[in-house]
Parts: sequence; C-alpha cells; structure tokens
Amino acid sequence: MRTDDMTASGALVFYSDFDDFDTWRQALRARLPGLRILHSSEVEDPAGIHYALAWKPPAGFFGRMPNLRLIINLGAGVDSLVGRDDLPAGVPVTRITDPDMARMMAGYVLFAVLRHARDIPWFEQAQRRGEWAYRHPRAPGDTRVAVLGLGELGACAAHELQRQGLTVLGWSRSPRAIDGVQCHAGMETLDAVIGQADILVVMLPLTEQTRGLLDRQRLLRLPRGAALVNVARGALVDQAAMTELLHSGHLGAATLDVFEREPLPADDPLWRMENVLITPHLASVAIPASAAAQIADNILRVSRHEAPRNQVDPARGY
Ligand code: NDP
Repeated sequence: MRTDDMTASGALVFYSDFDDFDTWRQALRARLPGLRILHSSEVEDPAGIHYALAWKPPAGFFGRMPNLRLIINLGAGVDSLVGRDDLPAGVPVTRITDPDMARMMAGYVLFAVLRHARDIPWFEQAQRRGEWAYRHPRAPGDTRVAVLGLGELGACAAHELQRQGLTVLGWSRSPRAIDGVQCHAGMETLDAVIGQADILVVMLPLTEQTRGLLDRQRLLRLPRGAALVNVARGALVDQAAMTELLHSGHLGAATLDVFEREPLPADDPLWRMENVLITPHLASVAIPASAAAQIADNILRVSRHEAPRNQVDPARGY
C-alpha cells in the first residue's frame, strides 16, 4: 500500500474572509496529519498545492496553482465558484453538504416561518404602540408553507416544518419524496405551488435557470398578505418588485438573509420597512467539527485517484 493510501500528503491552501483559519486547520490536521495546511497568505510555492479549501477567493487565485487536484467550496452554494474563469479544467469541484449545516439552516427557517405563522411581527408592532392586541392563533395545519428547493438544506427544513403540523408543499427540479410533505417537481407546477403559499421559503441554488425566478408576476401569484423567507440567494428574487409588493401589502412580510447586493446598501428602503427582518447572510455556515470528516474523506479519495463525493456539476450549476 502506498503511504497516500492511508494519509494524504502535499499541501492544502485555505482562503475565506469569513471563516476562522485556525479552527479549520485544527479540525483538518486531526484527520490528515500528513497534509500541510496553509493559509493563502503563507503559500510560497503555489506548485506544491494540491488541494484548495476556499470561499470566494480573489480572481486569479486558482490559476496560480498548476498542480491542483481538488477544489473544495467552503460552503453549500457554488454560484460564485462555477462562474469563474480561473477554474482549472479537469479539476473536480466539491461542496460541503453537512448534516449540522442543514440542521442550522432548518433552525433558521423554522424560526422565520413560525414567526410569521404566529403573527409575531404583528405583535412586535403592537408592543411598540403599547397595545394589548389580541389576535386568535390559527391552527398550524391552516398555514401553508411552500419550500422551493428540496436539496440537502431544503429537504431538512421541509421535514422540520411538517413536524410542526404546518401544511408543507415542496418544489424541486426532479421528483422528491419527503414524508408529510406534498412534493411537486418541474416548472409546470411552480405557479400552482406559489399560489397556495401563505409562507414561501426560497432554498434553491442560484443557476442560469433560477436567476430571477421569483419575478414580479410570480410574486403576484402569492395569496395577498403572504410572507417571503429567502435564505438562498438574493438574485433568485426581483428585489425591486419584492420591495414594491412589501409596500403595497401584497406581500405581508419578509425575512431576508440574502440580497441582490451584499452588504445591502445603507440607503436601501428594505432597511426601514417594519414588515421586513434582515439578517446579514448567516442562516447557516459550514461547521469545522462536523464538515472536516467529509473534506478529509474527499482528499483521501483524490489522493488514491478515486472520484470525490459531493461533486458539483458545473454545467448544471449546482
Ligand atoms: P442542493 O444542491 O442540495 O439542492 C438544490 C435543490 O434545488 C434541489 O432540490 C434541486 O432539485 C432544486 N433545484 C435546482 N435547480 C432547480 C430548478 N431549475 N428548478 C427546480 N428545482 C431546482 O442545495 P442545498 O440544499 O445544499 O442549498 C441550497 C442553497 O442554499 C445553496 O445553493 C445556497 O445558495 C443556499 N445557502 C445559503 C446559506 C445562507 O447562509 N443563507 C448557507 C448555505 C446555502 P433536484 O432535487 O431535482 O436536484
């Protein structure tokens, strides 16, 4: 058996403006003791780098490394990666699909959906007015929640939502089956799904097919007063139309973690809307302690000349 059958050798480069390098280095080192793990600022010999673990590295980053064998996207969404022109041909790209990340995302979605289902924004506004404003709660099953995207994250969220007794519809490209969720597939079913949603949760990847999917016409198909939760990517939704419909009341409320431009510009009207809750793109993150295992496994697979798992299909865009 060659040594790299047991442990990968060579070097990995890390890049992220958001994630803590030392935590990742420790988590990976515990599983891959033979691998040198370098922050991008420490790389002196780019030709010695075989693996890259990166989130939104600067343009030209990969082009400097002629011997890359694997690119690991430090996150679930790969839209900013697959469109780059410096991806080396023939080098597999993987992403993180970690159960802990899915659980963290499901927690955010559950919070946002229940907040709308229980009229919490309405009570928050009444509280600011000092008003004891009784509004009788609806039965959970009377609130219909549509989850667009039933992948690693969407399926977990849909499962958790149906456990609350909410009526849950799901939508994906190919047919899916999730216990307790009414699953639909394909463009021809989208408008009917949206038309039934008291709360619409967007959990799709951003691709050529999904960019601008929730345009003005589709948002108008939502029942009047519906709430929108976007935890996927801002560019899936026509933000100007969404803002206008939040003003007009056609959209009753929104919980938004992602935006067409991030950070959301200080003068954006969304900041000042009472019916909008804004969080700065953190609904879920990759968690080193749990994600290190699959990253290490993929590095070992590649070092044994096997195909890595969780590969991104650049043609499909996710
Ligand atoms: P997956 O790739 O696992 O799943 C994507 C889902 O979307 C699948 O069900 C897929 O259908 C469906 N889909 C893709 N294209 C279409 C289409 N054209 N029409 C209908 N359905 C489609 O993604 P994840 O669940 O891991 O992640 C979803 C997104 O969440 C990421 O791409 C990322 O943008 C975002 N994200 C946001 C975070 C945040 O903090 N805000 C954190 C992490 C991710 P099918 O099942 O047929 O393949």
